[in-house]
Amino acid sequence: MPDGSTHNTSEIPGLDDLPDTPMMQQYAGIKRAHPDCLLFYRMGDFYELFLEDAVTASAALDITLTRRGNAGGNDIPMCGVPFHAYEGYLARLIKQGHKVAICEQTETPEQAKKRAGSKALVRRDVIRVVTPGTLTEDTLLDARQHNFLIAVVEQAGRYGLAAADLSTGTVMTQWLDAARLNGAIARFEPSEILAPQRLEQHPATRELLNEWRGLIAFQPNARFDANNASKRLTDFYEVGSVDAFGGFETAELTALGALIDYITLTQCGQHAPLERPRREVDDGSLEIDAVTRRALELTRTQSGERRGSLLATIDRTVTAAGARALAQRLVAPSTSLTAITNRHDAVAWLVAERGEEATLRDHLKAMPDIERALSRLGLERGGPRDMLAIRQAMETAEALAAQLSKAKDLPTNLADLIDPLTPPEGLPTLLTGALADEAPLLARDGGFIATGYTEELDKYRKLQTEGRQYIAEMQARYASETSVERLKIKHNNVLGYFIEVTALHADKLRDPAHNEQFIHRQTLANAVRFTTTELADLEQQMSQAGDRALAIELELFEDLRRSILSQTEPLRALAAAAAEADMATALANLAVTERYTRPEMSEDMAFEITGGRHPVVEQLAETGPQGFVANDCQLEDTGRLWLLTGPNMAGKSTFLRQNALIVILAQMGGFVPAEAAKIGIVDRLFARVGAADDLAKGRSTFMVEMLETAAILHRAGSKSLVILDEIGRGTATFDGMSLAWACVEYLHDKNQCRGLFATHYHELTGLSAKLNGLANHHMRVKEWQGDVVFLHSVGAGAADRSYGIQVAQLAGLPKPVIKRAKTVLETLEAGERQGGKASNLAQDLPLFHAIPEPSAEVEQEPSPVEQRLAEITPDDLSPRQALELVYELDRLAKEREQPN
Ligand code: ADP
Repeated sequence: MPDGSTHNTSEIPGLDDLPDTPMMQQYAGIKRAHPDCLLFYRMGDFYELFLEDAVTASAALDITLTRRGNAGGNDIPMCGVPFHAYEGYLARLIKQGHKVAICEQTETPEQAKKRAGSKALVRRDVIRVVTPGTLTEDTLLDARQHNFLIAVVEQAGRYGLAAADLSTGTVMTQWLDAARLNGAIARFEPSEILAPQRLEQHPATRELLNEWRGLIAFQPNARFDANNASKRLTDFYEVGSVDAFGGFETAELTALGALIDYITLTQCGQHAPLERPRREVDDGSLEIDAVTRRALELTRTQSGERRGSLLATIDRTVTAAGARALAQRLVAPSTSLTAITNRHDAVAWLVAERGEEATLRDHLKAMPDIERALSRLGLERGGPRDMLAIRQAMETAEALAAQLSKAKDLPTNLADLIDPLTPPEGLPTLLTGALADEAPLLARDGGFIATGYTEELDKYRKLQTEGRQYIAEMQARYASETSVERLKIKHNNVLGYFIEVTALHADKLRDPAHNEQFIHRQTLANAVRFTTTELADLEQQMSQAGDRALAIELELFEDLRRSILSQTEPLRALAAAAAEADMATALANLAVTERYTRPEMSEDMAFEITGGRHPVVEQLAETGPQGFVANDCQLEDTGRLWLLTGPNMAGKSTFLRQNALIVILAQMGGFVPAEAAKIGIVDRLFARVGAADDLAKGRSTFMVEMLETAAILHRAGSKSLVILDEIGRGTATFDGMSLAWACVEYLHDKNQCRGLFATHYHELTGLSAKLNGLANHHMRVKEWQGDVVFLHSVGAGAADRSYGIQVAQLAGLPKPVIKRAKTVLETLEAGERQGGKASNLAQDLPLFHAIPEPSAEVEQEPSPVEQRLAEITPDDLSPRQALELVYELDRLAKEREQPN
């Protein structure tokens, strides 16, 4: 037992040092089989952790570290978490990236005694390994987000990827070329990634996977063997051959095999309720790489928060499954004109039929998350409430189907939901008849089967209720027989039912008239307790009835579970259809409330956004009294590429991104924040916005920026859209400008893509004379009393200058610095005009050497008033001249206060 003293941190013993007691040896055996997990070893009401695990967990959870005896002179560290509240602790450990093996007692002490005598140790076994990618508990998961585990294998320079969410049963695979891998992984936002150990040595992949290092659990190569995988898959899905799934690449199946192997291991053999794999074709969705996802803040902001992301801004779904579906669609917008058009048709219909939309949403609000309920039931972790959820879901689905069936001119995508929304035959009746309206979380608490469902259960329940009535009668009878009015029959867990009277009245029951009947059980300070044979008999009957009733309920629970699971596929389809309905109504709701319009889609190179807005900035940012300023963008033949100039803070980034986001929204199937939009479907989207240092990977800002730019120049094609916000910033001016220059030329001539390109290098605007697909635009500003005012509107042509100093002044740089910068700028510009000198200056820092010294003098330069005063000799002035001078000085002083 723990002795409560603090741990003596000499040395932590190893497993081999543990004492030779049966329990410690049992522990060591189990721990050896799970070296990479923290082992939760069940002892009575606690999960205990020992040795290194205890030290790690106590620090991670901030709980007391104690010790349990010692090994070889060193304390054995120990800590524990209470079994009834372990989920919170588990969640924290998993969040910190630990894996936890849960080891339970698999027999009762009585069973152990029966098996091996009085000193027997109860058997224990790991019943589950909890890892970030294999969670199923609602308490450990975000309801509105998927939790993906993925596996990656390499095959001849391409990659097979499999992704599964155990909590919903979703399974997908992809076959990707190397350039798409990173984006594909990013799309899933995985919690855990499996890869074969050999990939660690594979140079190309190592670089690629570097990004995900913290999430990767490398597995033995054997787990990624193609033959093993196909055997595992045929066994798991009970099919004759993997061909049953359709045309999958070997690498996809290998990855899937490894994934299923891992899930089976973590679930300790329990068959995981996973749906059949769905294959996603490579070019079916808009390609967006990891950098672009981050830059555009699709599901998280650059600082990692959900709020402020595109998803959080547009999400109007009312169900958890709908929210997950919306997120999945947003991270993988379609490239199929038919698919996109069908989605737009559905949203358009709901926008037009506001009444239908509102009613559908009302129904949907009652839709429980049955994907997760089904998974829990499948893993034998579910309870009666999960069954109630399924019953409720079927009712809701029926209502949705009925409403859609009545509707007129229903577009394909909505009409297609009616069938799957129709519940599987017989199941609603079964669950309505079988389940009571209120149910406990756990089946073992009983009371969830409806009265009237089986005669037998009703009979035992009646015995219990009647027993309680009978006890009430018994109490009244005993009270009158003994004339102890306050005699009570009570119940506790130790004695069961007993008769209690106050000490004062105890003698009445001991009276010879009664003492045959009342048998003494216990004397307390104020009360004395008795029983009778009659009471004991009744209690036994009642408890038997209770046990029987519970056993029957548990049997029925199992029957119901099987009936539900036999309908897993139609139930999943039902859930998916409801999620789809939720998503479509949510997009319609968004379109109406935020004034989004239907984009006109085509397969050509069209790109014409009229009055476009940034969906997030428009909703969240303080955009001043005029609100968000809408802007047009036409990337047509003579302006396929736009070069955008304008000062910092003028709205360049916002404009660039809003056009990329409009494409994503349109292709995911939503309406867009614009007055009108014509979009030729984009196949790849690239966005680079102000690269950040990646010091963790040992790369400078400039290196990161060039790597990212290289990826774009290699991959962008004529159907791609490229957004570049400043390139060539991290190096000397002329280097940077030259690189930017060459990139624009390349994008124009080679990639021939549509694109928006923000730059500070005004020199680049000269390129438009040479490149006929390049057009100059600028962010309009106006100058007012020496300050710049941002108009946030885009105008044709290049900006006249960059207003950097004015913006710096707005930011509150000290006055002498601003003034000094102006002088430097003037000198530089003058040098430029005279030829030669400016390029010397502009080479690099430090600029200050080339300029007459120093700022302290600048500060003390005489004011116009002082200069004027220096010019005069007071004795030479007539009174009239003196008066005029006073006026002049006053004017000079005022002019100085208000520079224009
Ligand atoms: P830049 O990239 O030119 O430095 P940003 O795009 O970052 O400028 O915009 C700076 C700020 O100006 C944004 O945070 C936003 O609040 C505001 N802004 C940008 N575009 C608009 C617009 N079209 N209408 C209103 N405010 C805008």
